Amino acid sequence: MHDIIVVGAGPVGSYSAYLLAKKGLNVGIFEKNLTIGDDVNCTGIVSTECLKNFGLPGEVILRPVDSIKASSPSGNYIKYQSASPLAYVVNRSLFDDEINKMAVREGATTYLGTRVEEITITDGAFNVKVKTGGEEREFSAKVGVVATGFELNSLQGVVKKPKDFSYGIQTDVGIEDVTDVEVYFGRNIAPGYFAWVVPTHNGSAKVGLIVKKNPEEYLKRFLANPLISSRVVAGDSRIKCSPIPFGRTPKSYAQRLIVVGEAAGQVKTTTGGGIYFGLLCSEIAVSTITEAFKRRDFGEKVFEEYEMNWRKKIGPELKAGMVLRNLFSRLSDHQIELLVDLVKRDGFLPIIKNHNFDWQKDLITSLLQKFFSKNIFREADK
Ligand SMILES: Cc1cc2nc3c(=O)[nH]c(=O)nc-3n(C[C@H](O)[C@H](O)[C@H](O)COP(=O)(O)OP(=O)(O)OC[C@H]3O[C@@H](n4cnc5c(N)ncnc54)[C@H](O)[C@@H]3O)c2cc1C
Repeated sequence: MHDIIVVGAGPVGSYSAYLLAKKGLNVGIFEKNLTIGDDVNCTGIVSTECLKNFGLPGEVILRPVDSIKASSPSGNYIKYQSASPLAYVVNRSLFDDEINKMAVREGATTYLGTRVEEITITDGAFNVKVKTGGEEREFSAKVGVVATGFELNSLQGVVKKPKDFSYGIQTDVGIEDVTDVEVYFGRNIAPGYFAWVVPTHNGSAKVGLIVKKNPEEYLKRFLANPLISSRVVAGDSRIKCSPIPFGRTPKSYAQRLIVVGEAAGQVKTTTGGGIYFGLLCSEIAVSTITEAFKRRDFGEKVFEEYEMNWRKKIGPELKAGMVLRNLFSRLSDHQIELLVDLVKRDGFLPIIKNHNFDWQKDLITSLLQKFFSKNIFREADK
């Protein structure tokens, strides 16, 4: 019997398993796919701080991100160039695989091609029914860590999904003339959110966007936009689309259970990026679980500590991001034009430069103060 069962070998599940195994606990990781990082839908932008703080493998880096160009609907743009990398684009499949290897090196066991179909929690154990190679099997542990990303359907009953979500849709293209990470705003491009072109390596880029509805329609329109289509030299017919939680998150614990990562809604409410906050919260989860093992108490009260601590750590960030998101989603194209123009000429770039890539609350507060002082949000649609 394992001490801990981790459901899902994404970055957050495997990183939690790595930390738990390092503490000497016997960890089993159950992954439905036959290969780690299979079919992952992610741009792979990970901050410099994230790679450094979590001791993640550098071999998976495709390129640094040191310049970002943000364009208004009319093509007016702000370019931000940093002297040192703000972030890196990583090969997400390899990234997941390397983190899983870190867990296995510490003694964790990964069960590939093993889908957890059902979870039950009793006073004495965390139990899963799994399907593997056409067979059904059952496993038990003292504690379960659910890190399934947004895919929680089969686990309903024990784990609740975050309610509000949008779609992240993306494809790979061969492209010329792209050096910056490009971000595009506009109601016809990605209403309330943004679209991107992120160069990866050897003339390739990830082109994608986030929207609430009709993701395929918006992506096709974005790819047909002359700003993009004039530079694309080869398209990939594969388009990947997945939900990303934004907004209020449900309870992330019960007796013998912790939900972590995207499954618990631990994603930046500005960009939908979930790797950094997920890894951070997995550290908090592991500290609570270690304490539970020390006390030999796996009751709900012990695990409540996890939720209190992660909400304390990233709750204000999630809230500030939602305030910005709610305001931003109401802006007309005209207001976006005003915003971009204002940021360009009114001393905003120093404010942006002085802030951290991952911790955006103070930046959001400073920007909102400036925007309100300039009446941007009160300008009537024109
Ligand atoms: C288009 C797009 C672009 C993105 N770009 C970025 C970015 O640049 N940077 C960033 O930080 N974030 C980005 N994100 C978000 C990021 O991908 C997620 O936040 C991150 O993958 C969450 O990690 P996780 O480990 O919590 O879940 P996941 O990565 O989703 O891993 C969950 C794992 O659990 C497995 N699983 C699910 N159900 C079961 C089951 N029942 N039994 C067994 N295994 C199961 C899955 O196969 C998967 O391997 C993007 C998302 C999208 C959609």
